[in-house]
Amino acid sequence: MTMEHYHAVRKGEALPVFMRSRSVDADFSPEDDTEKLFSLHDSLLSEAKGMTDYSPKEKSLLDLKIHLTRETLKKCNLCERKCLVNREEKRGFCGVGINSHIASMFPHVGEEEMLVPSGTIFYTGCTLRCVFCQNWDISQFPESGREIPPEDVAKWLETENVINANFVGGEPTPNLYHVLQVMKNLEKPLPMIWNSNMYMSEKCMKLLNGAIDLYLSDFKYGNDDCAMKYSSAPNYVKIVKRNHLIAEKHADLLVRHLVMPNHVECCTYKVLEMLKGMKALVNVMSQYRPDYKACEFPEINRRLKPEEYEKAVNKAKELGLEILTQ
Ligand code: SF4
Repeated sequence: MTMEHYHAVRKGEALPVFMRSRSVDADFSPEDDTEKLFSLHDSLLSEAKGMTDYSPKEKSLLDLKIHLTRETLKKCNLCERKCLVNREEKRGFCGVGINSHIASMFPHVGEEEMLVPSGTIFYTGCTLRCVFCQNWDISQFPESGREIPPEDVAKWLETENVINANFVGGEPTPNLYHVLQVMKNLEKPLPMIWNSNMYMSEKCMKLLNGAIDLYLSDFKYGNDDCAMKYSSAPNYVKIVKRNHLIAEKHADLLVRHLVMPNHVECCTYKVLEMLKGMKALVNVMSQYRPDYKACEFPEINRRLKPEEYEKAVNKAKELGLEILTQ
C-alpha cells in the first residue's frame, strides 16, 4: 500500500515526522564540529522513528536540523549544483539569498484529490532552468515575492482550512532553512509535503529525513541529454533516481511525471521503467502546455496528443505501476 503514512497522519493515527523530531532531545552546542553534529543527527533519527507521543523539547532534533542547514548555507550544497557559495554574501545558481522569498500561499484545490485543500507555499528561485516552466515568473526571479517570517507562515497553516503543508516553488530546496523553521513554529499535526524537482544533494536528503511525510516529486526525464537541453541539469538521471530511492525509504512517495510531446519513448518510458519496483503512487500527467521559452524548441512547442498520453498510460499499466491518470 502506498501513502499509508500520509493517510494515518491525516486521520490523527500517526504523528507527522517533524513532531517526532521535535520530541527528541538533542544535546549540542552550535560551536560543535559540524561533522560530529551530522553524526549526532544520524544517530538521533532512529530514536525519532519510534516516537509515538508529541512532547516538544527545549533543544530538539529539529533544532539540530535547522542549525546544520544554516551551517550548510555558508558553503551551499543543498542541491547537486554544489555552488559552495556563502549565501550570506553571494548567490549561487538558484539566486536565493540567506532569506527566503514567498510569492504566494493559499489553500490549493487543484492538487491530487487526497491532498486538497493543500496549504501551498510558493517559494521563489529554482535549482533547474526548465525552458517550459509554467511558474517561470517566480522560479527564475528569486527576488520576486516577499520575506514572510516562518512564524507567520506557521500561523497561517494553523488557521487556514488546509489538510497539509505543501512546500513548493520555484523549488523548496534552496529554501530549506525557512521550511524547517516553519515546522519549528507549527503546532498543528499536519503532514509535511516536499513538492520538488528532486535535484537535491545527499546532504539535503539527510536533513529532510525526519521532517517530510510525503515527497510529491517531479521525475521528468529518462536521459541526461533531454535534461541538459531543457533544464540545464547535468547528471539528472543518476541524481533524481537516487533521491527517489532514498525518499521511498523514509517517507511516502507520490511521483508526478508530465508526459511531453515527442518524448514518450526517450523520457516517459524510461522514467516509468525506473519507477518499477519502487513503493510509489505515480501520477501520469497530460497537461503539458508550451510556456516560457518552449517556443524556441519546435518539438515541444505544442500540447500533447491523446495517442501520446495513451501510450504513456499503457506503459505504466504494463509495468504494473500504481497510477493516477487524468
Ligand atoms: S541551493 Fe543549489 S543552486 Fe542554490 S546556492 Fe545552493 S547549491 Fe547553488
